[in-house]
Amino acid sequence: MKDKKTLGLYIHIPFCAKKCDYCDFYSFTPGSGRAIDNYVSAMMLQMEDISDACKGHTVDTVYFGGGTPSMLPINQFARLMDSVRRNFRLAKDAEITSEANPGTVNLKYLKSLRKLGINRLSLGMQSLDDSELKVLGRIHSAEQFEETYENVRNAGFTNISVDIMYGLPDQTLASFADTLRHVTLLDPDHISLYCLKIEEGTPFFKMRDTLNLPDDDTEYDMYMKAVDFLSARGYERYEMSNFARDGKYSRHNLKYWNCEEYIGIGASAHSYFGGERYSVIRNAESYINGLEILESGIPIIDESRFIDKAESMNEYVMLRMRLEAGVDMIEFKKRFGIDFYEKFGQYLEEYIEGGFVKRIGDSYAFTSKGMFVSNYILSAVLDFSPESIGTV
Ligand code: SF4
Repeated sequence: MKDKKTLGLYIHIPFCAKKCDYCDFYSFTPGSGRAIDNYVSAMMLQMEDISDACKGHTVDTVYFGGGTPSMLPINQFARLMDSVRRNFRLAKDAEITSEANPGTVNLKYLKSLRKLGINRLSLGMQSLDDSELKVLGRIHSAEQFEETYENVRNAGFTNISVDIMYGLPDQTLASFADTLRHVTLLDPDHISLYCLKIEEGTPFFKMRDTLNLPDDDTEYDMYMKAVDFLSARGYERYEMSNFARDGKYSRHNLKYWNCEEYIGIGASAHSYFGGERYSVIRNAESYINGLEILESGIPIIDESRFIDKAESMNEYVMLRMRLEAGVDMIEFKKRFGIDFYEKFGQYLEEYIEGGFVKRIGDSYAFTSKGMFVSNYILSAVLDFSPESIGTV
């Protein structure tokens, strides 16, 4: 019988030309070409090491994230793609995405990426207002973004995603609306929309009291404005922060929200495989050393734990409720043997009445208003207490 198990592969490239002031992803400026070469070699070893366990799976999505994957010289990208093909069964129609930063790629580089099989590009734009880009510490201007965008299309990419941020210092509803208007004129296939979060350990965290941030009501207005504006231009919101035209959803990210299996390669990468969640150490040097001497047993895994039924159910509700489609009660029953309405009915009715949740057929999903405050709702509804684990 044909094996239908599928797998996503996430490959973390932790290099950035310069650290943005709000960013807490694991990334740094590489010291030399040798440092990049060593890191790529270590990732190839990790792929080789994990490949046996993945023999029964077909990899149908690959995602190069970062950091800035487009800082990899093209020959290093080629080594990684070669290693993916050698170590995993890669589906013919696999979605292969790379993130790229405007200002780090030219047409020749983009054409080479296409030749290597990358068929989806995700561009970190964030804003089309130069003063906002400057405050964020981005290395590119709005004009450079547009040039890069044109090059991406000219290189033959027919699936382009653009990241936009709102809730930025000094950002107004009008400047945000300008960014939205401008970017949709370029016609990207997919838009990811993120609200700025001030993360501990970032320069923004130190400056938090002096940043002129929009208040909660303005952030709410920005989100609702985006939802309405994008929908009027044919972008379907299929997930809380993600919009797509013509069904060009991010197949890779859907794996996260659908609680499907994926393997993370590289320092700080996370995996969910065989019922276990684990992450790789957040230190490229230790990662390289760990893999070079893997046989001596020095671990590259930071944290790992098996997810039991109760936790898995909480995760499922939390992640599936991010989707426009919400939680399907029949699917839920099949997966957990529990009646979704019996378990959560009292809350559902309350939130339906408040206009935060809606019922569509056999599913429950957030309304736009509910999506904006989903974290509060989910933490009130889901039981994350240690006693609840294992008591479903
Ligand atoms: S380019 Fe992306 S990963 Fe790099 S520092 Fe900026 S936000 Fe972080």
